[in-house]
Amino acid sequence: MATKKPFKKDFRKDIREPQKSKKEENKEKIITYVPDMKVSDVASALDVTNATLIKKLMSLGMITSINQVLDRETIELIALDFGYEVKDEVITDLTRYDEIEIVDDPKDLVKRSPIITIMGHVDHGKTTLLDAIRHTRVVQGEAGGITQHIGAYQVDWNGEKITFIDTPGHAAFTEMRARGAKVTDIVILVVAADDGVKPQTIEALEHAKAAKVPIIVAVNKVDKPNANPDLIMSTLSSYDLTPETWGGKTPYVMISALKRQGIDELLDVIQLVAEMEELKANPNRPARGTVIEASLDRGRGPVATIIVETGTLHVGDIVVIGNTYGRIRTMNDDLKRRFTEALPGTPVEITGLEDVPQAGDIFMVFQDEKLARQTAEARASKVRETLAKSMKATSLESMFGDKEVGEKVLNVILKADVQGSVEVIKNMLEKIDIEGFHASVVRAGVGAITESDVTLASASGAIIIGFNVRPAANVKELANENGIEIRLYNVIYRITEDIEKALKGMLEPTYEEVVTGQAQVRQVFKISKVGTVAGCYVTEGYISRNSKVTLIRDGIVIYKGELSSLKRFKDEVKEVKQGFECGISIVNYNDIKEGDVIEASIDKEVEVA
Ligand code: GDP
Repeated sequence: MATKKPFKKDFRKDIREPQKSKKEENKEKIITYVPDMKVSDVASALDVTNATLIKKLMSLGMITSINQVLDRETIELIALDFGYEVKDEVITDLTRYDEIEIVDDPKDLVKRSPIITIMGHVDHGKTTLLDAIRHTRVVQGEAGGITQHIGAYQVDWNGEKITFIDTPGHAAFTEMRARGAKVTDIVILVVAADDGVKPQTIEALEHAKAAKVPIIVAVNKVDKPNANPDLIMSTLSSYDLTPETWGGKTPYVMISALKRQGIDELLDVIQLVAEMEELKANPNRPARGTVIEASLDRGRGPVATIIVETGTLHVGDIVVIGNTYGRIRTMNDDLKRRFTEALPGTPVEITGLEDVPQAGDIFMVFQDEKLARQTAEARASKVRETLAKSMKATSLESMFGDKEVGEKVLNVILKADVQGSVEVIKNMLEKIDIEGFHASVVRAGVGAITESDVTLASASGAIIIGFNVRPAANVKELANENGIEIRLYNVIYRITEDIEKALKGMLEPTYEEVVTGQAQVRQVFKISKVGTVAGCYVTEGYISRNSKVTLIRDGIVIYKGELSSLKRFKDEVKEVKQGFECGISIVNYNDIKEGDVIEASIDKEVEVA
């Protein structure tokens, strides 16, 4: 029976306890509750007759019939009376483990490190700020050393840790969010004081707001002579980011990432905001979290940087991670320090996975390796199924569409750097109409062009459009192999321009009837089984075998049809030119008379303006 989501329970507990046969359950006097249990279901679970149960319910003041659905509370009450305990149904759909909501007992929760994402317009100093924050480690006397980019890092501040996602910009944030991962607690919106609020600043704040994540504005480059923080504050106030100093709710911090000024204050403010958010997690449960980055390392195999959101992850733990699984072999941070366990809020790079997961994938610790493998396999095959279904749907659509037969559609797969652009471009594409011919966006999404885009494109006869995104080298290759066109743009209107052109190219050519020549009928032969053959003389131009013919008698069109044969002597020929004799017969038409004129024409494509 399908279980309704969200599953508000500790799922792993269920998987640790294998489902028991009914006989065993009865021995233990347990009934398994599934939603929508009827009186008859409950009666058989309690091993009593329907009548007995109905009577029992009546004694509780409930008049019921066999088919009446009972709520869980009633079932519990009744079960108790018969000496049974009620337990929840075991979730058998392992593919949905990441939908399960974890409900922890509040007394098990402890404070965890906040997870921060830095966003803002290009060149406003996000990367420089991430470097400046990383540098505070040196100040704090922590290992400086050579860091490696793993996608996230942690710094110690006032004796507590703060986690930073080390991929500036909102592309990653949006993609992860699109995949259901909520891995950011606080967004730092970087705005350069000498440049002010820019389109990407607005996009970033919209993304943060949509995710309901608190925003701290870092006004950067205040060291510059033309810095104008006031303008930024007033502009952002109209976006609901009124500074605290102006009576609003948004903290603003003046910084110079380059000169490493204001960083301490920014970290203090982060801790303050985090404090208010009351970020907590239960470290004493099997870990769960999100993938930030993943790749295939030549020496180490699949590696993934993950952030533990709840629970504690240990070396040796078995995890299901997206569509793959594995046993954690090593854990390290960006300073290459090795760990044996990772607490909530901690980013670590892990090895030991069977395959490379995707950014935004959820991971969860399982108790049983076999179950983990089965779950990963079930998830992978579900993904394949969904893909196959969508392919089927699109390829059908490209042939017939849900539109009229014969209608032509240019299928498009659209990938762009941010959701905002995806929507704008999709709308523009879908508005294009060239004499009824249009573009249909079969998939639109944020992020790089992937293999699955190419697969879908090849299945649906689509072209791929990338706006401010690029395909990876292997994806390019796959596209070439499959003859899939990938077009990359960084100006939106060029996309529509090109698609319009493409649609014009796709238009069924418009044909015009062009007369190629005329012949005069000089003699008519009636031949049995063949019909009428006209002995003609070509007076003008030429007559070709694939011509259409118009029979003209005394200047009037008598019949329009097709040539059925064109002969010179006894041989069928392709073409007869002016000045030659030939035999002509017309498909399904015999009433040809001497003196008639046969005009030959062909359909010629004309270009659409
Ligand atoms: P991103 O595109 O947002 O990651 O921006 P970067 O961190 O790459 O910075 C863009 C440019 O701005 C670089 O040349 C930085 O050196 C410069 N920059 C960043 N922060 C500051 C700052 O506080 N003051 C000044 N004067 N320049 C800065």
